[in-house]
Amino acid sequence: AKKSAPFGLCHISEDGFKEFDRYLDIKSKLEQAIESDELSIVLQPQVTHDGTVSSFEALVRWYSKELGPVSPGEFIPIAEESYAICEIGDIVLRKTLNVMSNFVKAGLNTTIAINISARQIVMPDFINSLLSRVNQFGIPPHRLMLELTETALVVDIELVKETMLELAKFGFRFSIDDFGTGYSSLAYLKVLPISELKIDKYFVDDIGKDFDGKAAQIVDAILEMAKALNVTCIAEGVETVEQLNYLKGKGCERFQGYYFSRPEPEAYWAELKQNPTLP
Ligand code: C2E
Ligand code: CA
Ligand code: CA
Ligand code: CA
Repeated sequence: AKKSAPFGLCHISEDGFKEFDRYLDIKSKLEQAIESDELSIVLQPQVTHDGTVSSFEALVRWYSKELGPVSPGEFIPIAEESYAICEIGDIVLRKTLNVMSNFVKAGLNTTIAINISARQIVMPDFINSLLSRVNQFGIPPHRLMLELTETALVVDIELVKETMLELAKFGFRFSIDDFGTGYSSLAYLKVLPISELKIDKYFVDDIGKDFDGKAAQIVDAILEMAKALNVTCIAEGVETVEQLNYLKGKGCERFQGYYFSRPEPEAYWAELKQNPTLP
């Protein structure tokens, strides 16, 4: 029989209980995970037209002793409800800078993109904490690409703009992640120090698949917008050669996705020679 409990005027189903249990589990174990260093990063390459790896995106991973692997799609939204996201952000930043300094020692100067949450960018100490971390690891700020979603941009427009402009003065660069899924206007984007638009996987997925060609039209519009803003474009979630060729033909400069490589740990990339080339 289905369990159902009164909760004010609504009822929570058995599935609802399970989901809530999972939520509480993650929320409480995430705190321990942060302290006991259970979080790690993997790196996914970003390649140019000829397949040269120009940079990477760092993506967080959580292999929980108790829960097993938990995907960021599940725990990041929970972390974003509290200060935990800022701690995770700092862990990812430190691990990324550490990888970069190891790469520098091996003769490889690379750019790495990290994901910045809306809650992080509006923290009063965000600028100083970034600056002190890059100084600590001796990495020039222009080697870091900060990925912000359109949604994060509009949380507190004035504050985000000022923070971005200040960070840009030091050389940090910005990429607009999941572009095309939010609401930012061209007029607003024009006043921000952006160097790259990242076409969301959602649109890339449908290239060649949807018969009315809507996704392709959106991709075209994003590439036009990038031109108007004088910034480069990167496509995420590229899985097939058809998608790649379409995007190449339309002038998209760089690509990221399983077609080239899945995200892999530092050790995997460390074995590769300088400027590795992918298919
Ligand atoms: P995102 O920033 O849009 O990252 C791209 C996601 O797509 C990653 O999933 C990546 O592994 C996956 N992906 C890349 N290429 C392909 C492909 O060709 N096919 C398919 N099916 N997937 C592909 P992941 O690592 O599970 O991360 C999910 C989301 O979690 C990220 O989406 C980002 O929003 C968030 N996230 C991950 N790491 C961090 C982090 O360090 N900080 C913050 N704030 N968020 C993070
Ligand atoms: Ca991203
Ligand atoms: Ca993305
Ligand atoms: Ca995405």
